[in-house]
Amino acid sequence: QVIPVITIDGPGGSGKGTIAGLLASRLGWKLLDSGALYRLLAYAAQNHGVDLTNEEGLKALAAYLDVQFIAEDGQRDQRIILEGEDVTRAIRTETMGTGASQVAAIPAVREALLNRQQAFREAPGLVADGRDMGTVVFPDAQLKVFLTASPHERAERRHKQLLGKGETANLASLLDEIMARDERDMNRSVAPLRPADDAILLDSTHLSIEEVLESVLKEARERD
Ligand code: C5P
Repeated sequence: QVIPVITIDGPGGSGKGTIAGLLASRLGWKLLDSGALYRLLAYAAQNHGVDLTNEEGLKALAAYLDVQFIAEDGQRDQRIILEGEDVTRAIRTETMGTGASQVAAIPAVREALLNRQQAFREAPGLVADGRDMGTVVFPDAQLKVFLTASPHERAERRHKQLLGKGETANLASLLDEIMARDERDMNRSVAPLRPADDAILLDSTHLSIEEVLESVLKEARERD
């Protein structure tokens, strides 16, 4: 029996993390936040003094990354433990997002993280969120969603999110960072950000979280 997978890919700030988490808890399925793995690697590199251009060092770190994802009440707010340290918040900064997108452009790093991601596929099902979930990691997924939103809307969401966490944030520089990250994610040679041929495209710019969730659930039911 094949374990079902729903993939949610798209650029940062499109709402895919939120939607994937809600979907997983609604369905009672496992959740893979693949972006967190790249963020964790950037964070571990900083801890271990490995330069973000040191491909061999990063590849070794990726292979031995000692990380635990601990699901709490529903699956949305999972805690992330790296080498015994709770890094749930520390990996969410823009610096780690940018670092993640640098290490994510290295083919050997992606290769080293591939099995680890596929191992999240457990019964009764998996919701996987990222950039290449539908194209590379789970090409046989039952439902593939590509979620977008305008760069401006995404910058505003990120801005609100950061302020909500009590962090400081500047809208203009967030917009710059988002566009630079999109540029790097879409133009890299390995696993670039793009919709799978069989993905459903959803633009969330003018949709509420609940509306996006409902349309994904509807698609999922149709494929059941
Ligand atoms: O989704 P999140 O913002 O946490 O991802 C951080 C970075 O990790 C992305 O900008 C992207 O470069 C990289 N990433 C990736 N492939 C994935 C998930 C994230 O390359 N499946």
